[in-house]
Amino acid sequence: MKNLRIKQIISMKADNQEMTVHGWIRSFRDSKAVCFIALNDGSCLSNLQIVIDRDKVDLTNIISDLTTGASVAVTGQLVASPKPEQPVELDAQTVQVLGPSPSETYPLQKKRHSFEFLREIAHLRPRTNTFSAVMRVRNALSFAIHHYFQEHGFLYIQTPIITASDCEGAGEMFQVTTLPLDNIPKENNSIDFSKDFFGKKASLTVSGQLEGEIMALALGNIYTFGPTFRAEHSNTSRHLAEFWMVEPEMAFCDINGDMDIAEEFLKYIISHVLENCEEDMAFFDKWVDPGKLEVLQQIVKSSFTRITYTQAIEELLKSKEKFEFKVEWGIDLQSEHEKFLTEKVYNNPVIITDYPKQIKAFYMKQNDDGKTVRAMDILVPRIGEIIGGSEREDRLDVLTARLKDQNLPVEEYWWYLELRKYGSAPHAGFGLGFERMVQFVTGMQNIRDVIPFPRAYGSAEF
Ligand code: ATP
Ligand code: MN
Repeated sequence: MKNLRIKQIISMKADNQEMTVHGWIRSFRDSKAVCFIALNDGSCLSNLQIVIDRDKVDLTNIISDLTTGASVAVTGQLVASPKPEQPVELDAQTVQVLGPSPSETYPLQKKRHSFEFLREIAHLRPRTNTFSAVMRVRNALSFAIHHYFQEHGFLYIQTPIITASDCEGAGEMFQVTTLPLDNIPKENNSIDFSKDFFGKKASLTVSGQLEGEIMALALGNIYTFGPTFRAEHSNTSRHLAEFWMVEPEMAFCDINGDMDIAEEFLKYIISHVLENCEEDMAFFDKWVDPGKLEVLQQIVKSSFTRITYTQAIEELLKSKEKFEFKVEWGIDLQSEHEKFLTEKVYNNPVIITDYPKQIKAFYMKQNDDGKTVRAMDILVPRIGEIIGGSEREDRLDVLTARLKDQNLPVEEYWWYLELRKYGSAPHAGFGLGFERMVQFVTGMQNIRDVIPFPRAYGSAEF
């Protein structure tokens, strides 16, 4: 006798084969002679209908435990269903309650719950339709990401989560310390980090890029896919304090190659989800973000719009839209500007290149105009920036000058500079925010609802 998941069962031919199914009761209906259980086991959105003939199966001792949320094991025969919306149902022979679920207190009632409420019960929300569908799509995306890179000869590299190098910069890092916070050792009034665990100041990584560059400049094409931490105080629907980032780095690659790969990669992982998560995607299209399927199908077929930052600013200035943040050459594009460009002006994913060097990181390659760098951001509707990337500065003298320009401690970057001293090569890469990708594909509005256990400013439950 086989032990199958519901996803497999509902696609089988019904020829009275016997099987045991395990799952959680979504609903129970008692109509005296016959009872019905809608059973879900998390393998797919569909429930399996269990039909219990009371003349055949004695429910006397367990019927009060057949409530929403209870876990059961049911043995029975798979038969054709009279209902058109489901191909098969299970004709029960035995029903065993493994874990009852008192209905007076079970928080997941049959009605729709708000996503805010579900965040408070993150231990139960995977049992809802929406959240389980998000998790299956998230899984498919993660598989597709590995698949794309593995098929294209990229090595999967693990970069460190704890970093003790100052190079990652940006003041939004979480510190890692074992120093006693109530009695911090001081030396001339400043903290004596030589007494700390690593003998120096350490933090959680905000990006694996710099280490990724080391590996790319030896191995060719690499990618990382791991957790990333940013102490963002902003309470937005697209920022987390802990999120996952995909960061490929390609040697002997310039900004154009970078854009080509990023575009092909995005289309590949979207196609994979469209092909492999049909049921879940139809659910999102119907209940979460109507029209999403068509948007995604269109994106896979289209070519992304490619414009420069200067052109983007011109478009924004031309428009009659009232923006909260004033538009002028030199500003960092805000989410409202990004969304306007991708949703209203082009109605297409947009790649913006050649940003002013003042608003971008020191490692981006300078253009000959001396004002802009070879950065490229990819913007998509509803989200705005989903990818940030660039060609890296590979000239030792220019890179050193850039570090000094930005008042960064040149000595700390000795190894990063040596990559340019010994066998430097053009190289480029990008970072894709994994949760933003899940958000984009599913249409979920809040980034906290596409990760199992969100960590954000003021919140680290479960
Ligand atoms: P933003 O301007 O949207 O805050 P960023 O420019 O700081 O993003 P990058 O440093 O370019 O982000 O990181 C690469 C990608 O990582 C971004 O394009 C985005 O998809 C994702 N990302 C960045 N910060 C976060 C965050 N706090 N939570 C989730 N994803 C993030
Ligand atoms: Mn960015």
